[in-house]
Amino acid sequence: MIEKIRALEKVSRLLDPKQPQRDKWNAEVLHYANTFINQLGTTKTYIDSEENGAAIYDLDITEEATELATLLENTKTNIDEVGINPASGGHMGYIPGGGLYPSALGDYIAAVNNRYAGIFYAAPGAVRLENMLIRWMCRIMGFPETAIGNLTSGGSIANLIAIVTAREAHDIKARDIDQSVIYLSEQAHHSIQKAIRIAGLAEAHLRYIPLDDGLRLSVDALEKAIIDDKKKGLIPFFINASLGTTNTGAIDPIDPIAAIAKKHHLWFHIDAAYGGFFKLVPELAAKFQGIEKADSITLDPHKTLFLPFGTGAILIKNKEKVLKVHHYLADYMQDTIGANEEISPADVSPELTKHFRGMRLWLPLKLFGLKPFKAALEEKLYLTRYFYNEIKPLEGYELGPEPELSVAMFRYIPVAEEANAFNKKLIQAILKDGRIFLSSTTVNGVFWIRVAVVIFRTHLEEIDLLLKIIQEKVKELSH
Ligand SMILES: *Cc1c(COP(=O)(O)O)cnc(C)c1O
Repeated sequence: MIEKIRALEKVSRLLDPKQPQRDKWNAEVLHYANTFINQLGTTKTYIDSEENGAAIYDLDITEEATELATLLENTKTNIDEVGINPASGGHMGYIPGGGLYPSALGDYIAAVNNRYAGIFYAAPGAVRLENMLIRWMCRIMGFPETAIGNLTSGGSIANLIAIVTAREAHDIKARDIDQSVIYLSEQAHHSIQKAIRIAGLAEAHLRYIPLDDGLRLSVDALEKAIIDDKKKGLIPFFINASLGTTNTGAIDPIDPIAAIAKKHHLWFHIDAAYGGFFKLVPELAAKFQGIEKADSITLDPHKTLFLPFGTGAILIKNKEKVLKVHHYLADYMQDTIGANEEISPADVSPELTKHFRGMRLWLPLKLFGLKPFKAALEEKLYLTRYFYNEIKPLEGYELGPEPELSVAMFRYIPVAEEANAFNKKLIQAILKDGRIFLSSTTVNGVFWIRVAVVIFRTHLEEIDLLLKIIQEKVKELSH
């Protein structure tokens, strides 16, 4: 028996390399990361390839070990050199990513120390750190000390936590679902509809409230719809407002919606996954008026705090209902009962064991301080306005609504061709060039090209390059 164990140990100890091996790997990865970062700006933002990384299949799992150099080489060719590069300042499609370097260091520490950040008993310091970050976000949004929240994997799970909590708070039982009503606009992010389905509310009525010229939810239409539904004996219970729609960055009128929600006793959720952290820019204060009146707010540090993908946040005022839905105590967890000075993340989320996400958020915020974050957000705002103002006087171009945040829409109206078809070709040409990545959308049947300035590496140089590329491509396509 001992012999068998010793033999197994000899092999299993390979999982715990000694420092010389760790140093060697660290050096190789560091070199890889430095090369990647140093080459940003000269590498393309979008690479369309025939292969599309399929050769990664050659590295399926086998019994034997593979050299790190081989793995890194394949990471480069099959992962980093295909598709969109979300670390590039040229990425202005969708709501782009970024990836602050200190977050990588935070992830490294979190992976090495592997703190169990789901439960206070297991990792009191880690849970305190995450809750401190939640309280910081609550302060920014004007939420009270009694509010709670969670660092989620992204905005989608944050929206889900809000919706299931609202369902509980309004005591929506299975028999009530087909009479219950949810209000949102057609510009709401699809993760809201998805969360509604996952929450078992697919049979609820979804009222898509008409939009104003700025593609914002119309407040009068909202109240009218609620009153109508009440008359019909339905159960209006949830309003979703977008604070920064993904399509156009439009901000629904927060304060008036808050008033309607209060008057008619509805849960007021603000999906601020894209726009929320723009609250750090003082000149935008008026647009955020009333945000503190929401019942719940979704934020996405992996968008507008520039983190690498994998970190969203939910803030909720009604602590009791959050816990009612998410708190669970299994028999085998009885040791965790006791003097819990902090709410455990597992009590606020569908997750139990989870990545210690706080580290990747706290490290950059502390290492840089808030100042450069505020400057970067304000810079993105001004870059978007600059783009808008530069396109405006050019002949043949049409622009979407004046940007409220850092998303603008444009299209080119050709003389002799159908505009939608032309703009589809235009975006294809921009993608083929690959230096800048943009995405498109359709609003009321009209095909628009979007410019979303969110990456911390996007500066004036990238916007000027974008303006140059657009005009070049329009010229080429017009001949
Ligand atoms: C990105 C986004 C979401 C979804 O967040 P994920 O982090 O992608 O899960 C939800 N709402 C809005 C407005 C968004 O921009």
